[in-house]
Amino acid sequence: MKQVSFINAFISRRQLLLSALALALLPKKQAQAQAQEENVRLHIAANGHAPHRGQFHPVTSAGKKIVMIDPGHGGIDPGAMGHEGSEEKHVVLEIAHNIRDILREHPRIDVRLTRETDYFIPLYQRVEIAHQHDASVFMSIHADGFTHPEASGASVFALSNRGASSAMARYLSDKENAADAVAGLKVQEKDNYLQQVLFDLVQTDTIKNSLILGKHVLQQIRPLHHLHSQQTEQAAFAVLKSPSIPSILVETSFITNPVEERLLGTTAFRQKMAGTIASGIISYFAENDGHNRQSAQV
Ligand SMILES: [Zn+2]
Repeated sequence: MKQVSFINAFISRRQLLLSALALALLPKKQAQAQAQEENVRLHIAANGHAPHRGQFHPVTSAGKKIVMIDPGHGGIDPGAMGHEGSEEKHVVLEIAHNIRDILREHPRIDVRLTRETDYFIPLYQRVEIAHQHDASVFMSIHADGFTHPEASGASVFALSNRGASSAMARYLSDKENAADAVAGLKVQEKDNYLQQVLFDLVQTDTIKNSLILGKHVLQQIRPLHHLHSQQTEQAAFAVLKSPSIPSILVETSFITNPVEERLLGTTAFRQKMAGTIASGIISYFAENDGHNRQSAQV
């Protein structure tokens, strides 16, 4: 009995689903390579030293949580434009740099950016980058526009497998997803039935965590800036489609609203928004760690 709860504490439903999905998606060659890798580990455990080989090792971060910040748009894709000519791609890069500066001070967080400067990255590649870095969370930063200049406030979005939760969510996801069309890119999706079922199960779990992450960020923004929507909204944003990394998209403000365009142009506002997003991430990790400690004590 005691042994069962001990195992439960360490093998969560989420971990099991992730392992099953990894196996289902693994091409045969890669599965062989992984088996080889496993044998090497066993060899090290048995002999205390690694055999000579020239294999790639993923970046590790000494027990730190990796946060991937994704400044939206870039390069040939300027994003939304304000009436005074501000471009979303520049504003969000500044905010992302500010978030990085704040999170760098945290001893248990290692923060990385999908883009450091003004260049274009396709949406699916942004998700890939987060996976390559083994990120614990993915946060896409935007400052979009709407057809009505009076639209204002910040909003937080998570992925939806079904319909968009509001007309605004659909409008914004359509606009964000059009970014790859700017560069003439087309992503092919091919999945067999089993992969799809496993994928859906894992993604449902990931969306649940994305909504929790969204709640933490909204709680931090609420006292400091007007919210366009009080809840984390959901829509089919391509950049949030990681099956395993909790991912949210933060629309910091509407660049098409003249008052907010001016705010977005100030260092003080950019730092304020960066501060709320960084605090949201830290409080999300604190809640998660609390749950893990509780289940380990069962
Ligand atoms: Zn955007």
